[in-house]
Amino acid sequence: MGKRSKGSDDDGREGRPPEWTTHPTTLRWSPGDDDLTALDPSATPGWDGGKAAATDLVAAHAGELSDLQERLFAEGRSGGSRSVLLVLQGLDTSGKGGIVRHVVGLVDPQGVMHRSFGVPTAEEKAHGYLWRVRNALPRPGYIGVFDRSHHEQVLVVRVDGLEPPEEWATHYDEINAFEAAVAASGTTIVKVALMISRDEQKERLAKRLDRPDKHWKYDPADIDARLRWDDYVAAYQDLLDRTSTVVAPWHVVPADHKWYSRLVVSELLLDALRSLDLGWPLADFDVEAEKRRLAAT
Ligand code: AMP
Ligand code: MG
Repeated sequence: MGKRSKGSDDDGREGRPPEWTTHPTTLRWSPGDDDLTALDPSATPGWDGGKAAATDLVAAHAGELSDLQERLFAEGRSGGSRSVLLVLQGLDTSGKGGIVRHVVGLVDPQGVMHRSFGVPTAEEKAHGYLWRVRNALPRPGYIGVFDRSHHEQVLVVRVDGLEPPEEWATHYDEINAFEAAVAASGTTIVKVALMISRDEQKERLAKRLDRPDKHWKYDPADIDARLRWDDYVAAYQDLLDRTSTVVAPWHVVPADHKWYSRLVVSELLLDALRSLDLGWPLADFDVEAEKRRLAAT
């Protein structure tokens, strides 16, 4: 990735397949060090295994992901306050939806609170930009997934000039304060920025235009966004530099290879769930007595 200074690369290999030469957490953004224009979206940092092994590994994670998700859910049902929030940002065609389908889709949908954020509705516009986000936060026990998020308030809003600079510029600190409060309330935040190249996006948009079954995904406004590519890169650089915090760091994931970005997100989600050290809630009833009662029926 576009590192000017390189972090440690021998951390976290323990227990991982040899194809991971560095832990995916090395994709964590270092404000002030990392340079988006130096990032290669077609690279697969830390992964030597190629596509088939990556796809196999995502599938192999399914069991553990779904076990941990169920433990989290059980904890939430038993008075726990913890949850996980996966925030997906990325330009059109960067693969946000595919991550939801192929990675988040590995766990029980009953435990997932998914929300995508588009152009604010009239009702949403009547409130501050964090209002709709707050309403969509995962309840205890849930894995929340944001497809786009409050970060659009310093991306599309900035690039399209929907607010004057003196207004959008205030949002970075607000976002950090908001995320700090969310984290303090028991939500583990995993922020992922999917980075595709201009050429790859062109190919993906061309595919959408070629296939009638993909036309519904195509939005003529996507071309307008492409015309402001460099503005988006600058907006993303500032976003990453200014909202990568200790409690809510950004992971910047090269996304020209969908199999790579999906593998990375599966690892990050697993790490977040593992870090919670989830057990099973103890029964709040007398198990032996209930067995006797059941046997007598
Ligand atoms: P999609 O993700 O393809 O469904 O597109 C959603 C669209 O909503 C994108 O063009 C975003 O730029 C736009 N969008 C998301 N959040 C905001 C926001 N806060 N203000 C304006 N547009 C937004
Ligand atoms: Mg779109």
